[in-house]
Amino acid sequence: MRQSLVIANWKLNGDLGLIQKMAEQFANNDVQTAVKVVICPPAVYLKAAEISLAPAQVKVGAQNCAAQSEGAFTGEISARMLRDSGAEYVLIGHSERRALFAEQDAELAKKVVQAQREALIPVFCIGETLEQREAGEVKSVLRGQLEAGLADADFSQLVIAYEPVWAIGTGKTASPEQAQEVHAMVREWVAEVAPSEAADIQILYGGSVKAENAETLFSQPDIDGGLIGGASLDPVQFDAICKAA
Ligand code: PGA
Repeated sequence: MRQSLVIANWKLNGDLGLIQKMAEQFANNDVQTAVKVVICPPAVYLKAAEISLAPAQVKVGAQNCAAQSEGAFTGEISARMLRDSGAEYVLIGHSERRALFAEQDAELAKKVVQAQREALIPVFCIGETLEQREAGEVKSVLRGQLEAGLADADFSQLVIAYEPVWAIGTGKTASPEQAQEVHAMVREWVAEVAPSEAADIQILYGGSVKAENAETLFSQPDIDGGLIGGASLDPVQFDAICKAA
């Protein structure tokens, strides 16, 4: 039986005030007994978020980590530093990192290894563009991303997030059937490479999830929760999404 997981990806948004509001929203809220809730604020806020959200049983995660463990890499933050700052999860390979910061598969594979070495759970993000979907390439694109990025992964300490690029921040959501089809395909792939983990691995859907569409998405058999961008900046709506999981 897989526990539901809902992760907030604040991207380059949020501040101490939003952390406080989120902590108030989740205080005295028993959603976390059924659902694990994780907030990924910008890295500078991790410690503050960890401290504020701990009483509400909400965990924190980072949005990225360095592919190296230490050294002359100005501006980077290592997995160990994130762990020291309270992170338990780290997003790796978000489509914005891939597209806007040119992160390549080989680098992502190293980040997964770095994260797991420091006992952070990678949330490995995959997704196809609209052109790839229209060209019938969904399966080959996603399998390619999975094979390359998870080449050295420990599947027992891993979350996979399917986020179709055309659905991120666009207001267009994959239909529950479209998402389920992909999630089942991802789980089949895990069954091929790590058979003992396929039933347990959490596979999240992301891309314009809102309070209104969360329940039908999360009720699909292979969708174990969500990775939430825009709607996670509104504590009331994010709480409603968590309750739908
Ligand atoms: P969105 O973003 O919910 O705003 O579409 C999801 C994400 O990028 O993780």
